[in-house]
Amino acid sequence: MDFFNRLGYLINMKTGKYTIDFVQTGYFGLDGGAMFGVVPKVLWEKSIPSDNLNRITLGTRMPVIRSGSRIIIIDTGIGEYWDEKFNDRFSVDHTEFTPYGGLKQLGITPADVTDVVLTHLHFDHTGGSVISEGGKWIPAFPNAKYHMHQKQFDWAKEPSPKDKGSFASERFVPLAEEGVASFFEGSINLDDEIQLIETNGHTFGHLLVKLTDSSSSYLFCSDLIPTSAHVPLPFIMGFDLQPLLTLDEKSKFLNDAVEENTTLLFQHDTEYTGATVKKVDNGFAVNELIK
Ligand SMILES: [Zn+2]
Repeated sequence: MDFFNRLGYLINMKTGKYTIDFVQTGYFGLDGGAMFGVVPKVLWEKSIPSDNLNRITLGTRMPVIRSGSRIIIIDTGIGEYWDEKFNDRFSVDHTEFTPYGGLKQLGITPADVTDVVLTHLHFDHTGGSVISEGGKWIPAFPNAKYHMHQKQFDWAKEPSPKDKGSFASERFVPLAEEGVASFFEGSINLDDEIQLIETNGHTFGHLLVKLTDSSSSYLFCSDLIPTSAHVPLPFIMGFDLQPLLTLDEKSKFLNDAVEENTTLLFQHDTEYTGATVKKVDNGFAVNELIK
């Protein structure tokens, strides 16, 4: 595998028939305490410092997976069209990277994208799935099929008071209304090299994306392991609906990653795009970080 980091883009990572670029779509901030659950600040602030409102900066990376005319993207970042209050609260920052700017730099227009995989429907993962035109929300990628888990869509439409603040229905309901949503149950193969794997700790029907060929494998961890700082087992987000299930899921996928020498890819890490992991006395730790 070859990694070249350029302006936040991971260029020329190859697996099997696919080329993967890892595009940054913008930054935002979430409460550091909520991002690390029961882990005390004295431990997490060593890896990610917080601002004066205790927020930590997070990236919203989008893998762009290409083979011939098939262009698959995973998640769409936080997107635009939020009001001032929202942008302020979540410290939305599109000064360096914009929702569709990375695609443009790769020579891709939104109309070229054939598949959008939505790992889940929290606003920082599906915010850029739609654009607002003449007061109407329409798909931002007009020719794409949007793949999502049925359970996640059903939950997102009627979330609990605990996670209501993580969803914005205008960012995913129009996809179903416009007939571009493709729902599935369980885990599926998007093709012979791309698996969409169901997990349920973070939210119901949350997806991991595994890319494999005969010699290497990559696991896009989405919010199971959002940053390299979340590799240790107890570092679980306060947002998670079923944290003990997250713990089981983390143990399983980290163990598999060690055994199969899988490279983990992180969506929200501002610094590192990925890492390999190793077993240590009390669980797992980062082995090698990839810039
Ligand atoms: Zn997230």
